[in-house]
Amino acid sequence: MAESRGAKGQSLVTPGQTGIIGAMRTLRSLAATLALAPSVALAQAGPVTIHAARLLDGRGGVMNDVLIVIDKGKIVQIGERKGGIRPAGDPSLHATYELGSLTLLPGLIDAHSHPTWYFNKQGRYHTRADGDTPVQSMLATAGNAFATLNGGVTTIQSPGSPEDRDLREAIESGAIPGPRVLTSLQPLNDEKLTPDSLRALVRQRKQQGADLIKVFASQSIRDGGAPTMTQEQMNAICGEANALGLRTIVHAHSAESMRMSTMAGCTQIEHGVFATKEVLALMAEKGTYFDPQICLVFRNYLDNRAKYEGIGNYNEAGFAAMERAIPVATEAFKWARATKGLKIVFGTDAVAGAHGRNVEELVCRVQAGGQPPMEAIVSATSLGAEALRLGDRIGAVAPGYEADLVGVAGDPSKDITALRRVAFVMKGGRVYRWDGAPGN
Ligand SMILES: [Zn+2]
Repeated sequence: MAESRGAKGQSLVTPGQTGIIGAMRTLRSLAATLALAPSVALAQAGPVTIHAARLLDGRGGVMNDVLIVIDKGKIVQIGERKGGIRPAGDPSLHATYELGSLTLLPGLIDAHSHPTWYFNKQGRYHTRADGDTPVQSMLATAGNAFATLNGGVTTIQSPGSPEDRDLREAIESGAIPGPRVLTSLQPLNDEKLTPDSLRALVRQRKQQGADLIKVFASQSIRDGGAPTMTQEQMNAICGEANALGLRTIVHAHSAESMRMSTMAGCTQIEHGVFATKEVLALMAEKGTYFDPQICLVFRNYLDNRAKYEGIGNYNEAGFAAMERAIPVATEAFKWARATKGLKIVFGTDAVAGAHGRNVEELVCRVQAGGQPPMEAIVSATSLGAEALRLGDRIGAVAPGYEADLVGVAGDPSKDITALRRVAFVMKGGRVYRWDGAPGN
């Protein structure tokens, strides 16, 4: 079959599409093209409106039949359509984006993602010695960023890699699609350094443009997770960062490394597979954020075992340790939830193979960890924003906030798996994904 082309040059018919189904697909695709074209123009010319059956505001609130007005990348007005909201110049209340039965929520925030991790041409986990060129690596990174955004995540924190700075800037400038990136650049992990040298490294990272400091206070889970830094070293790192106004996020598995990080005044603790009730209570008391993982990162490693096995500590013992960690981490997550006042944020530790599937960790937290869906959503939106000190800009659907909006099929406050069905993604007022309204 010959290919026909739409007004904007998109291919409307692929060779496999024949007969009535093919024709219907063509019509649908043409309709989507026509529907999108004026919207893009409007998005550039002035306010745009979005209508959806439901809105979760990121703070636990729900609104039905909602119309949101967006101008210059920011949310300016939110109301029930029938309640009389009248966007300027649009008295018919015809929405620029009619999302039909979709549920809108703030773009998700992943506090721990590694966008530079990918599988190379040999189908193996990329390492610096595998012969890939910097261009190949950067393209793979850009692909991970796009997949993450398409999956409904509009902000990530990367802890971290030197390449993140270029990625952050390319996305910020609008040159490539991706989530907003905050990065630690190169993490601090040399336990042989003196406190003074560690303080100097913190200052150097700030100069290099880091948004935060990432430090390893314990071994990897694959090596047992015991403390690596001393209390004095942790005091030096987190103390210096605090003095400079930088947040610190700490890789810590053992309860002892978590305790030292908390006492040192670090901002957030990652992983914490071997957390105890005592150390979790101490974190709550000190206001230390907790970012545990109970499934995606482990399952992704186990599912992609052949692509990682034989590299570094990805060996027999390492994989066995990760398999054992799943129930232990799930139990620690339940203790964390039961710890009064402990602030648990959403972070996936997404590595090669997991980008774009970030919400699977939220699904696990609900299904295996017993977290109510709305609490899980708040952890990935307003609470996540607060932990990044961006609580007045992102993580909620409220006037003056960045227009970071995700539309999903179904109601994720009742069925968390609805987060898998992303059909609409807007970041900073710009639409990056719109698959069309289901059932319309
Ligand atoms: Zn990590």
